[in-house]
Amino acid sequence: MTTVETYATLDDAARAMGSDAAYLAGGTLLMRAVNEGNAPDRLVRLNNPNPKEFRSSGDKLILGAGLTMAGVLSLRELDFLHPVARVIGGPQIRNMATVVGNLFAEHPYGDFATALLALGAQVVPVGQGSPRPVEDIFRDRSRVGLISSVEFHRPRDPRAFGFLKVSRVKPKGVSVLSIAALLPREGGRIRGARIAFGAMGATPLRSAGAERALEGQSLDATSIDRAAAAAIEGLDPPTDQIASAWYRREVAGVHLKRLLTGMERI
Ligand SMILES: Cc1cc2nc3c(=O)[nH]c(=O)nc-3n(C[C@H](O)[C@H](O)[C@H](O)COP(=O)(O)OP(=O)(O)OC[C@H]3O[C@@H](n4cnc5c(N)ncnc54)[C@H](O)[C@@H]3O)c2cc1C
Repeated sequence: MTTVETYATLDDAARAMGSDAAYLAGGTLLMRAVNEGNAPDRLVRLNNPNPKEFRSSGDKLILGAGLTMAGVLSLRELDFLHPVARVIGGPQIRNMATVVGNLFAEHPYGDFATALLALGAQVVPVGQGSPRPVEDIFRDRSRVGLISSVEFHRPRDPRAFGFLKVSRVKPKGVSVLSIAALLPREGGRIRGARIAFGAMGATPLRSAGAERALEGQSLDATSIDRAAAAAIEGLDPPTDQIASAWYRREVAGVHLKRLLTGMERI
């Protein structure tokens, strides 16, 4: 049987955690596990997570652990992320699903986590620990501990960020794949390309091939074709009920080309 414990602060909740406990955020995944009898023995939650938790410091954006997809959509400062939050589940899911919870969502979920990977986001652990790249969570989710917030820098030009979700059921179906691209430009050249794919591995993954093809180039038909041809390098797509690994491999470059072509005109 699963028991639920409620605490006033994240620090209290962190102290109560142990190997037999999971932190209950929006519960869109954990409550399903409860219903299916697969939940941990103890669920730890807060009595009053602030759903609008958000602050900024200069160009640094800080999203608190309680911020939901609906919360993201309500914030003008996060407008470049609205296309990401908008395609996660239906309205009921978006009202409950948190940004931090998305980092722990297993394949094929993790559309927002894919965007955070492209943005080079870091997670801030509860307590004194220093921020760690989201890749650390993907490497071993069981050893991460409680997270208080996720932070990243707002792209200098928000149009340097692009996102595409490919699903069979629109607008809220599960991803065949999702792609997030951060392509900052200096003097017309891409500096610091980050291309992340969702549903193309057990966790969101960066496409080393596409990033290499774009770095230092201008975003044009030639560099886009090269990136599309190299898209699959660094990815490890699984087969599931949505699509086979073969299909995902075949279409990854096609969809990357579509996304990048739409970003070309800035
Ligand atoms: C019908 C349906 C449709 C969905 N559609 C999509 C979709 O289109 N795209 C998509 O990406 N996802 C989708 N999801 C998955 C899910 O809703 C999201 O991934 C959501 O963001 C998970 O967040 P949550 O707050 O509900 O997590 P919870 O269920 O509360 O928790 C999930 C995991 O995250 C951990 N966790 C949460 N917060 C913290 C924290 N602060 N520190 C440490 N660990 C934490 C929990 O302990 C747990 O292990 C869908 C789910 C359902 C049921």
